[in-house]
Amino acid sequence: VSHLGMTGSFRVETELQPPRRHDHFELTFEGGKRMIYHDPRRFGFLKIYPTSTVHQSSHLAGLGLEPLSNNLDGETLHKLFNRPRRDLKSLLLDQGLVAGLGNIYALEALHLAGLAPSRKGSSLSPLEASKLTTALITVLRAALDSGGSTINDYVNASGDPGYFQHQFAVYGREGEACPHPDCEGTITRISQQGRSTYFCPSCQI
Ligand SMILES: [Zn+2]
Repeated sequence: VSHLGMTGSFRVETELQPPRRHDHFELTFEGGKRMIYHDPRRFGFLKIYPTSTVHQSSHLAGLGLEPLSNNLDGETLHKLFNRPRRDLKSLLLDQGLVAGLGNIYALEALHLAGLAPSRKGSSLSPLEASKLTTALITVLRAALDSGGSTINDYVNASGDPGYFQHQFAVYGREGEACPHPDCEGTITRISQQGRSTYFCPSCQI
């Protein structure tokens, strides 16, 4: 089980090369290929578990539904988010409900679904819950197709950055025109639970 933290990255080397500073782990495969974990700030981790107990590890046991599995649909999300006191952004970031969404993908999905981040979970209609589910899946698939998002440090195993940051509709775009074709709104930034929220007040209701 591994997490990249802030600055972690894996790389694969086919020929023996001298280690780099901040390389922490190396796995050599039959045939000589090596997978190396590199992490200057050391917020990441890598732990080894037997296959039979890995899902009970503290890192995985509390996780909610995997958004790209068949377990998540509009009806399920509608039930899961039926909370009168919690807003949509905090529900999306709750790893115990839906796993794997951070600030960026939660905000991009809310914009695509046309939903305000401050809406309470229990105010979602079944149709809105279904729209939000579709938006989540669309945003995550598009991000994966673009190799992820590189804000500072993220690189894949070939050392290449992701490109999804060039497609952000709202994240980091305060003051810019809303990219939605039928909207003349301006992207606005507010703070929610101490973190930046970017959204369009005109088309996200
Ligand atoms: Zn808009």
